Amino acid sequence: MIDYPGKIACVVFTQWCNFRCHFCHNPECVLPEKMMLFQNDLIPEEAFFNFLKTRRGLLDGVSICGWEPTLRPDLYDFAKKIKEMWFLVKLDTNGRDYQIVKRMIQDKILDYVAIDIKHSLHKYEEAIGLAQEPEFYNSFQKLLQILLESKIDYEYRTTVAKGLHTADDIENMAVYIRGAKHYYLQNYIGGNTLNPDFWGTPFSDEELEEFKKIAERYVQHCEIRK
Ligand code: SF4
Repeated sequence: MIDYPGKIACVVFTQWCNFRCHFCHNPECVLPEKMMLFQNDLIPEEAFFNFLKTRRGLLDGVSICGWEPTLRPDLYDFAKKIKEMWFLVKLDTNGRDYQIVKRMIQDKILDYVAIDIKHSLHKYEEAIGLAQEPEFYNSFQKLLQILLESKIDYEYRTTVAKGLHTADDIENMAVYIRGAKHYYLQNYIGGNTLNPDFWGTPFSDEELEEFKKIAERYVQHCEIRK
């Protein structure tokens, strides 16, 4: 009930990610050496679809999350199969491949897209821990254009951490996605992080409210997601 706004959905997690966000809470699904530890526990696709058949009338949709699902070459076919069973399909992505998202929107496979915006663009690598080729930023920009022009439901969201983000960064990100339908600010919660020495801490409620006011100047709707 949390992952797909307004809907009851199950969540499919795919492995691999092209980022190494310092604050990532799921290093076992990002770092290859940790992934190897539970290769035997992966759910076969057939088992997933058998499960889904038993959830007709109970679930509204399926949220396909990453780590980064667009890294999966079979993402399109997988999502299409879900759609053909009349479930709504939500995709979470970091924006690395606008072309697959565009195709899935055009073919009416996607009902909702959630995109992470990690930081001010000039500081992006401070958050994601790895340098990206210019293609990543091109794709990110093109995806934004596609979403602004499309009728599909979508959201941008940022996990904010004190020590990593400032009020200026919130403004930079909101300006970048100016006009976006929904922008969610998610407070960083400490715990098992990909970088065990991650230096960030949560913001206070008052600080988050200030960020919300800043972002509301630029986007259609901003909320703090707890
Ligand atoms: S938090 Fe960053 S590293 Fe972790 S799965 Fe998401 S995009 Fe990948």
